[in-house]
Amino acid sequence: MTDDLNAVAEKTGMELDFDPNKLRDKYRDERDRRVRQDGNQQYQDISGKFAHFIDDPYVEPGFTREPLFDEVEVLVIGGGFGGLLAGARLREAGVKSLRIIEKGGDFGGTWYWNRYPGAQCDVEAYVYLPLLEEMNYIPKERYSHAPEIMAHTQAIGRKYDLYDDALFQTEVTGMEWDEADEKWIITTTHGDRMKARFVAMSNGPLNRPKLPAVAGIEDFKGHTFHTSRWDYDYTGGNNEGNLTGLKDKRVAIIGTGATAIQCISFLGESSKELLVFQRTPSSVDVRKNAPTDPEWVKKLRPGWHQKRVENFNVMMSGGQSSSASKPKPQKKEEPENEVDDGWTDIFRSMSETESKRPELVLSGKEKGLLNELSDQKKMQEIRDRAAAIVDDPDTAEALKAYYRQACKRPTFHDEYLQTYNLPNVTLVDTLGQGVDRITEKGILFNGKEYEVDCIIFATGFEVGTNYTNKSGYDIVGRNKVTLSDKWADGLKTFHGFFSNGFPNCFFIGMTQTGLTANMTHMLNEQAQHVAHIIDQAKQDNVSVLEATEEAETEWVDEIMRLAKLGESFYAACTPGYYNNEGQPGGGGNGFLSGQYGRGPVEFFKILKQWREDGKMQGLKTS
Ligand code: NDP
Repeated sequence: MTDDLNAVAEKTGMELDFDPNKLRDKYRDERDRRVRQDGNQQYQDISGKFAHFIDDPYVEPGFTREPLFDEVEVLVIGGGFGGLLAGARLREAGVKSLRIIEKGGDFGGTWYWNRYPGAQCDVEAYVYLPLLEEMNYIPKERYSHAPEIMAHTQAIGRKYDLYDDALFQTEVTGMEWDEADEKWIITTTHGDRMKARFVAMSNGPLNRPKLPAVAGIEDFKGHTFHTSRWDYDYTGGNNEGNLTGLKDKRVAIIGTGATAIQCISFLGESSKELLVFQRTPSSVDVRKNAPTDPEWVKKLRPGWHQKRVENFNVMMSGGQSSSASKPKPQKKEEPENEVDDGWTDIFRSMSETESKRPELVLSGKEKGLLNELSDQKKMQEIRDRAAAIVDDPDTAEALKAYYRQACKRPTFHDEYLQTYNLPNVTLVDTLGQGVDRITEKGILFNGKEYEVDCIIFATGFEVGTNYTNKSGYDIVGRNKVTLSDKWADGLKTFHGFFSNGFPNCFFIGMTQTGLTANMTHMLNEQAQHVAHIIDQAKQDNVSVLEATEEAETEWVDEIMRLAKLGESFYAACTPGYYNNEGQPGGGGNGFLSGQYGRGPVEFFKILKQWREDGKMQGLKTS
């Protein structure tokens, strides 16, 4: 059995209108011309002379308050969905003394910062927005826009009394374990020095914007900002567009990731001229947003939300195996696909081919190749969509994504591609290389200077740096060991929550956990787990709990072992933050490399069983 995709297509009766082996070669060539030696170093940390890029545009500057020197039982760092869900679940578990510290001026996290025009959730709102039944809330449309999502975060804050003791516009500067007192001491930018028995850290995986490290950014004399700090004072308008401030402006946007895909149509319709600087095209599939159908709502029965969330997870995890280059297990009876959208469609199309001929016996390798073929077919559909929508053939060709779908965040939009048919919009395809430099007047690429009034950086967020760098502070655990030292060679956790030497400290987010495309599902499962442990600790009169070295080693070994399954997949991917900019490894710094390789369905089962077992296995307590 060779790696011949044609042979598997023939064997399975899959009909293709392209040569899959040639397409695979094309994917490799496209990848090869994008791989760079400098990996994550190609990005500029936003600090020093660039610090203004991360100023909060949504609050009045100069906020001050008296420092706090008090004590709480549980301190949660981060007021996005992770921190809010932790807060909600802890309140449900009866925790009264609870404080959330948040850098922004309100709750919302991602949705506080990312207010750019068109910002909306990419995963269906009926599964993405958490606590819908608890909040008695139904989203207004299938894919909610950012203001509605932020309002939902604020409503959660009010319902669970999380505003009472919250500290906004406050950044943690350090955390140190006080051995004698068996508590954490937390310091902040407002001079606070407070204590907490437990700390739950939910800093967010994409919380620090980044800029490309191209020369000249500081030379540019026009206006610039990052998409996560949208400057509506300059552009005018709001999340719904109407960016009247741009009507006489030549605007450039750098980057064509998930953020850019959502805001470019608004820039196109409002700017005098728009130049889109692309390095790698995104895959842009159908969006099909719609207002919520009241008849559908009437049919919902108690428990519908969790059921739908879990169904989405199961549907997505049918394809989880594809991310790990593992064959998808044949299922006799597929559960109904409740969400049935662009995400689940990807995985459904993969399994459909398999189920068409159930009598066929395929080896593990053949199943892997069939998976690759299904992926190629799906991506071909997406490329054909670009060709059908975009009038200019060269522009259409440049907008076609040549890589496997899971290599980059899939996107969904019904106006993005059409924008390139507007006479004032130009795609500047940098052929995988990126812009050369910024000048006083604009952007230089391939010897040509593009003069603009404004440059918008849609260049994403820090991922490849270490955990404490992204958090913005270090943690000093037992025996003065810092977390940055302990995790210097990669994350070391038990179940993603605990790290030996750092007692009573929980990590919520993407630390060796079961990752799902529906992030709030993962955060909710984690929040429930944390609340359960703190509740049990209280009931058992346990004041200190900590992962044992053995449990941690076992979990890290499992993570690394399973990560190897996905390594060949990501090694063949076009570079990006999913695969550590083309330098994937089993360590911890890539977005996906350090996560639990069997996927979220299995991971949530592990957590549930652990809780039901009730023995606090893997933790030492005192
Ligand atoms: P990304 O990191 O996905 O995209 C950054 C973009 O900048 C890429 O297109 C990248 O190109 C480009 N780029 C970087 N350096 C250069 C350069 N020197 N010259 C030209 N282009 C350059 O960031 P986003 O903010 O778009 O998205 C981040 C993540 O946030 C998403 O992946 C998703 O997880 C999440 N998100 C979710 C949304 C939702 O759920 N609704 C909406 C938006 C974002 P290249 O691809 O070649 O690296």
